[in-house]
Amino acid sequence: MRLKRIFLASALIVLVLCQAALAAGPARNVIVLIADGTGAEQYTLARWYKGAPLAQDAILTGMVRTFIADSVVADSAPAGSAYATGVRTSDKLISVGPKATVLTGQSVPPEALRFRPLASVLEGARLQGRATGIVATSRVTHATPAAYLAHVPSRTMETEIMEQAVHQGVDVVLGGGRGYLTPKDAGGSRKDGRDLVPTLRARGYELPTTASELASAKGPRIFGLFAKSHMAPDIDRAVLAVDEPSLAQMTAKAIAVLGHNPKGFFLMVEGSQVDWADHANDPAHLISDLLSFDRAVQAALDYAKKRKDTLVVVVSDHNTGGMSIGNARTNSTYSQMSLESLLEPLRGMRVSGEALWKGLGQAPTPEALQRAVSQGWGLEIGLAEAGKVLEVAAARKADPYYALGEVLCPAHTVLGWTTHGHTGGDVPLFAFGPGSPRGLLSGPELGQATARALGIDLAALNRRLFVDAAEAFPGQASFADGVLRIEHKGRLAELAANTDILRLDGREIRLEGLVVHAPDTGRTYIPQQAVRRIRGQAGK
Ligand SMILES: [Zn+2]
Repeated sequence: MRLKRIFLASALIVLVLCQAALAAGPARNVIVLIADGTGAEQYTLARWYKGAPLAQDAILTGMVRTFIADSVVADSAPAGSAYATGVRTSDKLISVGPKATVLTGQSVPPEALRFRPLASVLEGARLQGRATGIVATSRVTHATPAAYLAHVPSRTMETEIMEQAVHQGVDVVLGGGRGYLTPKDAGGSRKDGRDLVPTLRARGYELPTTASELASAKGPRIFGLFAKSHMAPDIDRAVLAVDEPSLAQMTAKAIAVLGHNPKGFFLMVEGSQVDWADHANDPAHLISDLLSFDRAVQAALDYAKKRKDTLVVVVSDHNTGGMSIGNARTNSTYSQMSLESLLEPLRGMRVSGEALWKGLGQAPTPEALQRAVSQGWGLEIGLAEAGKVLEVAAARKADPYYALGEVLCPAHTVLGWTTHGHTGGDVPLFAFGPGSPRGLLSGPELGQATARALGIDLAALNRRLFVDAAEAFPGQASFADGVLRIEHKGRLAELAANTDILRLDGREIRLEGLVVHAPDTGRTYIPQQAVRRIRGQAGK
């Protein structure tokens, strides 16, 4: 009898321990590094140029299928959303549920999921008490970082994305996009007239704006935005933006600060500009930014390899540009391609195509372009060729500098490009540490693997963070002028969209998650915690 009781007790302890272990997940820390717009061939080019293995070469574990709900070719918003939330969604959407139109053969998402905010692994990690961080070289409101920070029906809603990011409770945010903290009439980019800097200060954030200020920032909370808009291309940083930190510096700093949390951390790092280089068909910008990303991956692996508790995942969200080593000029000579023929034309490239173009000023002449290409890219081009570049540039509505790579790469390099857009192939997956994902995964499966590594139950997290206010308070909730009002048993609750604040009976309560309004469905979602407080129920 007594033995039986001891057995039952110990079985119970084992069960509890197992559940605790499951809830914790196999990894203490997870670092996801995303090279935006990078396919296998770009890695190959960067490796040849570097002349040594890339940081992630030794940890290849699989491939990722990148298609989104409504397209076989992905854009960053839905692709990043899949990695952040484990759910496949539609073009332009930032971590909200998919629209009804889906690819042939894919199941139509349930009505209740449409535009519903989808909890991200960052939110899950934060609720577990882990530290969280986001690093990017774009504006931090750009699609990929936004997928981890915010929930909006369009990637262009950067004013709202920044407000959510500020109220998200992330510990470390490093990148560009300072303009979205302040109103337009104060020199910022916000359309709503709000200034978010006082909110950040009140919440204890340090706000470094230069590399040296970042280096001396102590943490634990840092909101470091180093450019009004995007940060400079890595290749131009030394000349155009000497005060900006590199991606590797930001990554190492984020890891050092987040690593102090005894419960661990989640960090997403984006090499944002590889994609833009690919869009521009610009090999100089591409190689430099991919090698900058490589140094950030090295910083993450240096940390993880000293420990046994850190999962590092390296992936991209889609391919861009369709770059190939080999082009129409090498139709019949490809099998005698020397390394010099690949690298020599690239070695003289010292600036991004965009910087080269901006240096020309308005209405450049073929002679001026010829000189600039010789100085900036080390290529000697003819006047007729310079004229052709100017002609292609003039025909473009935006981004005239795309003409440089489009005209000059086929003639002067062995690189081919098939598009200025994205392409739909699988992308390589690299992972190191506990819970490493393996094999051919879909984007959502990679997001789910990240959640599993952290011990996050995404379904439970979604129930906890996003309750449809109209369902919780039938006939009592209304949304107007950006504010949800709930009149419940004589109490008035007010919740401003894109914040984590509940105003109840004149008191201000900081919530554990965001208030998210979905304009397409008219629904507003609030944390379960807010529902309990408004109902006057005990507990948090
Ligand atoms: Zn892109």
